[in-house]
Amino acid sequence: ARKRDGKNGAQLYDRVILDETRERAEMESDIEVAIAASWFEAHFQPIVDIKTGTPAGFEALMRMRHPRKGLLSPAGIVSVAEETGTIAQIGTLILEDALANLARVSRLPGMGDAYVAVNFSPLQFEPGLPMRLAALLARYEIQPQRLVVEITEAVLLHDNPEIRNVLNEIQQFGCRIALDDFGTGYSSLSYMSRFPVDIVKIDQSFVRSLTEQTDEIGRKNRMLVEGISAISHKMNCKVVAEGVETEEQRLLLQGMGIDFAQGYLFSKPRGISDILDMFSADEPIARSLAS
Ligand code: C2E
Ligand code: MG
Ligand code: MG
Ligand code: MG
Repeated sequence: ARKRDGKNGAQLYDRVILDETRERAEMESDIEVAIAASWFEAHFQPIVDIKTGTPAGFEALMRMRHPRKGLLSPAGIVSVAEETGTIAQIGTLILEDALANLARVSRLPGMGDAYVAVNFSPLQFEPGLPMRLAALLARYEIQPQRLVVEITEAVLLHDNPEIRNVLNEIQQFGCRIALDDFGTGYSSLSYMSRFPVDIVKIDQSFVRSLTEQTDEIGRKNRMLVEGISAISHKMNCKVVAEGVETEEQRLLLQGMGIDFAQGYLFSKPRGISDILDMFSADEPIARSLAS
């Protein structure tokens, strides 16, 4: 809202603030109800081998199935849930849904080793987390290697030794750690040396930048992504490109040595029944999303 001079401007400004406050309060109460009424569910998006299109795993993405408003994306939910602290509960619900559904996906042909990548908020990294992860993995009979813990810079920003310990424990237990939205943060490169990282996820803004804008900027962005890919491999990390929407992007990224791709070119995030349908087909082609 832009504050303007004059009485009408001020009134408009007040109304916008009031609307925002109302919306925010409504989201808070929606979240409370959604937790109690089980409106939260994990949708799955395939993460595929960039050369063959074969899924290596899935990212679990939070959705709220609101009976009146429909299926809601995390955009407005996560920030409010982080402020109120409910993100810890929601995170556990999404994690459980993701693991339960990975167990179902595992029974599909060729999916026995598929992994699930789950987004974690900073508030979830309390000292009890490694034990709780171990218990959940045991309950769903999933080997630790098949859970990828996705973290963003927000988790690493304060270089908190407690968080570092929790991450180390999780990694020693066998789960993998992925750095999400890589390259957009303040000091992305330094996190690679200070924290245990197994997978680097190059942010979709980089993928977009490969072909956009002038030739000169596109060329420099391609060098940047190629460099990130080379550094990641030197650090023994696998590289995923996020937001791959076109065959042109896929081809460029493959040429840069990127290992895996995720994006609308292969599949958007889908509910679990769609995923099971998609991959239960007998034809092997159903398992190769590139074709
Ligand atoms: P993210 O972890 O970086 O997830 C990737 C986002 O990119 C997802 O948005 C996905 O739907 C979208 N995406 C995938 N392929 C494409 C593509 O080809 N083009 C475009 N334009 N977008 C694509 P989504 O599902 O809306 O999630 C947004 C963010 O919300 C996530 O970004 C993540 O930071 C957060 N989030 C999602 N689920 C959870 C969760 O369970 N817990 C927490 N703490 N955060 C979550
Ligand atoms: Mg993610
Ligand atoms: Mg991301
Ligand atoms: Mg993101």
